[in-house]
Amino acid sequence: MVGNTGKHALVLGGSIAGLLAARVLADRYATVTIVERDRLPSTAVQRRGVPHGQHVHAMLPRGLQIIEGLLPGFTAQVVSAGGLTGDILANVRWYLNGLPLRRTAIGLTALSASRPLLEGTVRDRVRALANVTILDGYDVTGLCASAGRDRITGVVVARRGGAGPRVVDADLVVDATGRGSRTPRWLAELGYETPPADRVAIDLAYSSFLVTAPDHLMGDDLVVVTARFPGQRRSSVMQRLEGGRVLVTLAGVQGERPPVTPADLPAYARTLARDDTYDVLRAAKPLGTPVAYRFPTYVRHRYDHLRRLPAGLLVTGDATCGFNPVYGQGMSVAAMNAAALAEELGHGDEPDPYRYFQAVAQILEAPWRLAVGADLALPGVTGPALPASPLTPDYLRRLQLAATEDAEAAAALVRVTSLVEPPQTLLGAEVVRRVERVPVAPAAP
Ligand SMILES: Cc1cc2nc3c(=O)[nH]c(=O)nc-3n(C[C@H](O)[C@H](O)[C@H](O)COP(=O)(O)OP(=O)(O)OC[C@H]3O[C@@H](n4cnc5c(N)ncnc54)[C@H](O)[C@@H]3O)c2cc1C
Repeated sequence: MVGNTGKHALVLGGSIAGLLAARVLADRYATVTIVERDRLPSTAVQRRGVPHGQHVHAMLPRGLQIIEGLLPGFTAQVVSAGGLTGDILANVRWYLNGLPLRRTAIGLTALSASRPLLEGTVRDRVRALANVTILDGYDVTGLCASAGRDRITGVVVARRGGAGPRVVDADLVVDATGRGSRTPRWLAELGYETPPADRVAIDLAYSSFLVTAPDHLMGDDLVVVTARFPGQRRSSVMQRLEGGRVLVTLAGVQGERPPVTPADLPAYARTLARDDTYDVLRAAKPLGTPVAYRFPTYVRHRYDHLRRLPAGLLVTGDATCGFNPVYGQGMSVAAMNAAALAEELGHGDEPDPYRYFQAVAQILEAPWRLAVGADLALPGVTGPALPASPLTPDYLRRLQLAATEDAEAAAALVRVTSLVEPPQTLLGAEVVRRVERVPVAPAAP
């Protein structure tokens, strides 16, 4: 269905957020062009513009639900390529505060696969849409505006190592270039305010190691999460991937640097709250060498706070808000942004940037509160204060402890962290009753 929104939409960046935006735009625009800096591979392989693709990428149920709605059969396609599915609580080993969450099936699907397979599957589906074109190997170097600078009319692109820049005209430009987005700077060059930015200085370091591990150590579990807890700055996630592989990511915050030499990984893992990661690393056969990633801060750009915006420009995905990746929210939030874009386009007229950015701000509220609330509880982490809420770190910790014994509490908690239910549900009478059974401020193990 092509609507009356405009003729040509341009998406900057061909990663998860850009591809999902293009899928939505294809319903309303006669043609959609994705401009991507990398030459995009025809298979599901790691690429330069997404260095994070070598690290654990958990797909939360909310993101999967939206992607499945936009690309029906997506989950089955990933599974046919070797991805694995299971229940997010029954088939994931969650250690919070060093204790396992009580397991029960809650009917929310977790999909476990490498980031290149997830992105490659979305890319294949979007590339197959008749009105979508991918202009890869082109760098976007600037925005083009109308004479009055009140409308974005296209972008300047330059072929990597090739001929000089050229202009691509568009009725709508959607920036999905990730955390390095230059839209704040480009807006300033056009005489607009730069969006205020909320920054959380987390100083996160990852080390990820692809291995094969004896079957019995992972069991039927798709993912094993050994979370940090107050007093502990180290954590790990192990994820089963296609091809019988296991991706082990060790993480440290606030100056903790997980090692990048294979021989040193088990000793680091031994200091975690549980030995599951240590056991896997000790028995594992390496399939490469560990890869490091540093993440000093994460940033939320408050486009919703701008009083003046040009027509014809929207921003999505990490370009609006990049999250601390340990919470696994980024791809799901990109999908939620795509849903907001679809709703905005559903109004039928030209997209209204003010309304769109308000919708994005609402979407970001829950994941932002969950991530920032947990991170600010760590001594030394700085960031914007959150509005006061009864969901205090102490209440959440007691809920986590309740969830180790009480299946209903575990279900309530994981539905919220899966972004399927809003955090307020954790304050429902039934959940509060279960939390109140846990003594105040128990000691960490
Ligand atoms: C270490 C790490 C681990 C993560 N783990 C998880 C996880 O477990 N679960 C989860 O849901 N999310 C995770 N994320 C977040 C997730 O990767 C992103 O939220 C998701 O990829 C959406 O990002 P995006 O498409 O907005 O940007 P990106 O994935 O960063 O893609 C931006 C794209 O734009 C292109 N580009 C950039 N500049 C230009 C330009 N000027 N011109 C043309 N093209 C350009 C790049 O080449 C790239 O393809 C993690 C992130 C990191 C860093």
